[in-house]
Amino acid sequence: MIQHKLAMISTDPKLVGQLCDLIGTMPNIDFPTMGGTVFWENLAESNGWKLQKNKFTNHSRLLDPSNTRKAWGSEQAMLDALKRLEPTMSASYESMKVFCPHCGSNVPKGKYCKECGSNME
Ligand SMILES: [Zn+2]
Repeated sequence: MIQHKLAMISTDPKLVGQLCDLIGTMPNIDFPTMGGTVFWENLAESNGWKLQKNKFTNHSRLLDPSNTRKAWGSEQAMLDALKRLEPTMSASYESMKVFCPHCGSNVPKGKYCKECGSNME
C-alpha cells in the first residue's frame, strides 16, 4: 500500500509539496549519527524515490532519486500525511495520460485504450 502511494508521488512531484504541508513544520533536529553511521530501513521504493525509516529514532523520510530529503517526520506523521494525501494522489493518478502502444494516441491511463480499444497492459 505504501509502495503504491510512493509510486504515485514519484510520478507527480508536486504531491511532495502537499505532503510536506500535511506533515507540518518540522524542527530542524540533527539526527544522532551513531559514530557516523545512521541506519535507515527502506519502507518502500519506487522510480528512485525512497521512503525510509530510521531504526533508532523512528523518524521517516522521503528521498528523491538524487537522494535529497524532500520530507520527513515521525513515522506516524508520515503515514498520516500519506493517508490524507491519498484522495489527491488518486485523482492525480487517474488523470495521468499514457501513450497507447498500439495506436500511439495519448489517452487516460487504463486497461484499454479509449481510442482504439486495445488492451494496454
Ligand atoms: Zn490505442
